[in-house]
Amino acid sequence: MLDWKDGQPYSRRFGDVYYSADSGIDETRHVFLAGNRLPARFAALPSRASVCLGETGFGTGLNFLCAWALFDEVAPPSAALDFFSVENDPLADDELAAALAPWTVLQRRACALLERWRRRVPGWNRWSFGGGRVRLTLAIDDVADALPQLPVGTVDAWLLDGFAPAKNPEMWSEAVLAGVARASRPGATVATYTSAGWVRRGLQQAGFAVERAPGFGRKREMLRGALATAADATTATADGTAQVADRGRPETAVVIGGGIAGCAAAHALARRGIAVTLVERARGLAAGASGNPRGILYARFGAGAHPLHRFVLAAYGHVLAWCDDVLPVDGVVRAECGLLQLACGDDEATRIARLARRAWPASLLEFVDAERAATLAGVPLGHGGLWFPGGGWVIPPRLCARLADDDRIALRLGHDAHTLDRAGHGWRAAGRDAAGHPWQVEADIALVCCAQTATRFAPLTRFALTPVRGQITELPATAATRALRTIVCGDGYCMPAAGGLHVVGATHAIGDAGDDLRAGDHAANLARLAGYAPALATGFGGVDVATLDGRAAVRCSLPGAVPLVGRIDDGLYASLGHGTRGLVTAGLAGEVLACLATGTLPPLPAAVLAALAPGRAANGRRRAAAIP
Ligand SMILES: Cc1cc2nc3c(=O)[nH]c(=O)nc-3n(C[C@H](O)[C@H](O)[C@H](O)COP(=O)(O)OP(=O)(O)OC[C@H]3O[C@@H](n4cnc5c(N)ncnc54)[C@H](O)[C@@H]3O)c2cc1C
Repeated sequence: MLDWKDGQPYSRRFGDVYYSADSGIDETRHVFLAGNRLPARFAALPSRASVCLGETGFGTGLNFLCAWALFDEVAPPSAALDFFSVENDPLADDELAAALAPWTVLQRRACALLERWRRRVPGWNRWSFGGGRVRLTLAIDDVADALPQLPVGTVDAWLLDGFAPAKNPEMWSEAVLAGVARASRPGATVATYTSAGWVRRGLQQAGFAVERAPGFGRKREMLRGALATAADATTATADGTAQVADRGRPETAVVIGGGIAGCAAAHALARRGIAVTLVERARGLAAGASGNPRGILYARFGAGAHPLHRFVLAAYGHVLAWCDDVLPVDGVVRAECGLLQLACGDDEATRIARLARRAWPASLLEFVDAERAATLAGVPLGHGGLWFPGGGWVIPPRLCARLADDDRIALRLGHDAHTLDRAGHGWRAAGRDAAGHPWQVEADIALVCCAQTATRFAPLTRFALTPVRGQITELPATAATRALRTIVCGDGYCMPAAGGLHVVGATHAIGDAGDDLRAGDHAANLARLAGYAPALATGFGGVDVATLDGRAAVRCSLPGAVPLVGRIDDGLYASLGHGTRGLVTAGLAGEVLACLATGTLPPLPAAVLAALAPGRAANGRRRAAAIP
């Protein structure tokens, strides 16, 4: 944790300072930016190219902020920066703010980082800045675990930071340096402030040609070098700039399905400069499961290390930060009212008790007793549980509309896609419009995001997509229920009133593809509410379920409740099976597909990507119960 020593942030745990007492910024510029020749390499990037930096030890984020500032200064406007960093012991919100306060020249960027920081979750975090031009992937994890999860040959330049080798030897171990080399592109460079002999030998052993160079301030020497592996003749040039050259990227994309999955994928591609045609069979976006009047931004976390748990956790952190960017909290289309997950029922109490054994940032979740839960909610509650201060609700159709509102996205509404076939080097989607006229769209890549109808396309027939009907109930607020301030979840959920209506959800009928409104489903929602929040249910008084409004729609699910996100074939991708939590998972899924399609750093560890990938879904017919 952070202490202060002679006006400098200092780690008690490692007995070392976070940055140079002489001038942290100047040290960063000298050691890491100049040491990797980044000013020249950024400036030489071709337009729309991307470069990937890797860092060990995020610390105060100073290196990231300086690299971002340099990138903005010298790189072409259409280029993009991926910055991967790993940090096992992240600073608390107030510690980070205090540590960055001295750098007034970085203030605007530091504020943007601090806004995202409160959304951090254990594991991998993906945050975008500058309209998507800069992408930070922060792995809150042990460095030895995180590096092997990077794709081979991804990183163009390394900033080996972290506390002094003598004080934090794990950061500089043989295994870590081998992980650095493995994730490096041919010719990747490396720079570090230390000149310790065993670090130099370790880097050499890992395959880097390393030299000593003048250090910064009181440090006489530093190390810099490059991966000595024979550079790829097609990408390397004498000054090393071509390692960061354009990676053969698609120019055009067709996305089928205008729900949250399709809109998120289209948005992620458009941000990368790709021209997208978004095809939706209904006359408006968000006509399917994504069309509810309100949905909650929350998903149950699992305590274990199962890839689905890691995905859900990453997706929760991602969606909050992502919405901060595209649909900021305004209390009208998005509210951050907080969310209580009550520990009612033995299974839920056990899950929550397991979660309690782990350390969580207070900005993410807290454990609360029944009394505090009731105080937070503003209504009597009989259970404690988990409090998610960042939880809230959105109007999903408004989120979809915002995502699709981009000059690079052409909407084709009322266009039902019937076929999807290879065409030349890309794909052709074809079908009929609302007037029955045939249409077709050809593009370099195709993304299938149309939920259960995806199996009508030949390359996707093999997937076991299952319809799961769900219905929400809208309940007029009463004097008693108007006091509800937060979302309350048990085996269903109840949202605070907005526009005089509470939303209570949701039923779950596997194999039922009906989207008609049913009084019986309203009754089921009310019965569940009476189980987890009886005082709230009573507050609604005796309602006649036959008079209630709401909305029914069909979710698309896969065995094991693991969404299908990844590459189906060359240039063909899918984001399907988001089940009960698509508002949370679709954003990160869209980001994954955009990274796969452009060959850039993915936002998730390899093990999680593998669990989401189509390869597992074809043969892996796991049941939800099999997931720990
Ligand atoms: C009652 C209910 C409550 C829910 N509550 C929540 C919640 O609170 N929080 C949460 O995170 N999740 C919630 N969900 C789940 C969430 O809504 C879904 O996971 C998510 O909307 C799925 O998005 P999607 O884009 O994959 O599918 P959809 O939203 O169904 O979008 C698919 C789109 O593809 C279009 N399409 C289909 N076939 C074709 C074709 N051949 N050509 C062109 N277009 C086509 C459809 O018209 C549709 O617009 C809820 C779901 C339901 C049903």
